Amino acid sequence: MEKVRVQTGAPYEVLIGNGLLRQAGELTAAAVRGRRVMIMTDNTVGPLYAETAEAAFRKAGFSTAVFSFPEGEMHKTLSTVEQALEAADAAGLTRGDLFAALGGGLTGDMTGLTAALYLRGTDFVQLPTTLLAMVDASVGGKTAVNLKSGKNLCGAFHQPRLVICDPETLRTLPEAVYAEGMAEVIKHGALGGEALLNRIVRGGDIESLIAANVRLKSSIVSRDEKESGLRQLLNLGHTFGHAVEKLSGFTIYHGEGVAVGLMIATAAAEHHGLCEPGVGAELKTLLRREKLPVSTAFTAAEIAGAALNDKKRRGDRITLVLPETRGKSRLYPLPVSELGAFIACCDGEVTGL
Ligand code: NAD
Repeated sequence: MEKVRVQTGAPYEVLIGNGLLRQAGELTAAAVRGRRVMIMTDNTVGPLYAETAEAAFRKAGFSTAVFSFPEGEMHKTLSTVEQALEAADAAGLTRGDLFAALGGGLTGDMTGLTAALYLRGTDFVQLPTTLLAMVDASVGGKTAVNLKSGKNLCGAFHQPRLVICDPETLRTLPEAVYAEGMAEVIKHGALGGEALLNRIVRGGDIESLIAANVRLKSSIVSRDEKESGLRQLLNLGHTFGHAVEKLSGFTIYHGEGVAVGLMIATAAAEHHGLCEPGVGAELKTLLRREKLPVSTAFTAAEIAGAALNDKKRRGDRITLVLPETRGKSRLYPLPVSELGAFIACCDGEVTGL
C-alpha cells in the first residue's frame, strides 16, 4: 500500500492499494469519529461496488445508508444535492457522521458539496473508482455542481478526511474513461518535474503511477489550498481544452479536450520560443499511446473566442499555463486581445509538431 499525506489546513492521507475498498471501513474508522455513513454513488458504480463498500463499513461497526443518483453531468446539480441532503436527514446523520463518495470525479464533487452543506459541514471520505478521480479530483477539496450556464459554477472548498484508492476498481472502467484519466496524468508529467515525466513514459505498475501523481497534486494543493497561484498550474491544457469541449457541444470527452488543449498550449509555446523544442513531440507520443486526440478541426479564432467567453475569466488578461522545458510549465499572463494571435500558429499545425 502507498500512502501520501496532504498538508492542507486539516491534513489527511491518500491510501493507494489493490483491495483497499474491502478495508474501507476499518481505514475510515481510524480517521473519523462518526459511525454512521451515507454512501453516495451513481447508478453505474453502485451495482458494481456499493455492496462491497457497505459490507466494509458494516464490518467496522458503521451503520450505512446508500444514496444513488443517475450518472452524467446533467445530474450534477443542486437538485441532486438537495435530494442527497434530504436522504441524509432521513437516515438520521448527525454532524459527527459522514458521507462517502463512491465513484468518479462527479460523485466526489457532489458528495463533497453535500458534506460541506449538511448541518453546515460534515466529514466525508473519497473512494474514487476512476483513474481521473484517483490522480486528480479526489485530492484537493474542490467540490461543485453545475449551473445551467456552465460546469462547476456552484461549489465550495471542503477537504475529505481520507482518500482510499483501490486500483482493482479500474478493471471495470470503459477504455475511453480510463484514457481521460491518462490525459490528466500526462498533463501532470508536463508540469511535475522530469522524474514524474520519466515515470509516466516508463508506464507499468498502476499503483505506484497513481501514487506518483497524487504526490504531485498533494504537493501543489498543500502549498496553495484555495488556488491563488501555484495551483493554477494544474489548469495546463484546460483553457483551450474547455474551449474545444464547448465548441464540440460537449460531444467530446473532457480528457480529450485536455489532450488537445495540452497540444495547443505546447505548440504555441514552442512557436513563440517560450518552450524548448521537442517537449511537444514527446507529449504527443504519450497522448497517442493512450489513443487520445492531438489535434482539432476548430480554428484558432474559434478556440480563442470560446476560451474568452469562459464565465470564470476576469479582467483584461488571461493567465495561460505553458510548458517550458521537459516536465516544467509556468504561468503566462497575456492580454486577452492577443490570445487569438498567440495560438494562430496552431491552425492546421498542431499535428505537425
Ligand atoms: P464520472 O464520475 O462521471 O465517471 C465517468 C463514468 O465512469 C461514469 O459514467 C461512471 O458511472 C463510470 N464509472 C466510474 N467508475 C467506474 C468503474 N470503476 N467501473 C465502471 N464505470 C465506472 O467522471 P470522471 O471522469 O471520474 O470525472 C469527471 C468529473 O470530475 C467532472 O464532473 C469534473 O468536473 C470533475 N473533476 C473534479 C476535479 C476536482 O478537483 N474536484 C478535478 C477534475 C475533474
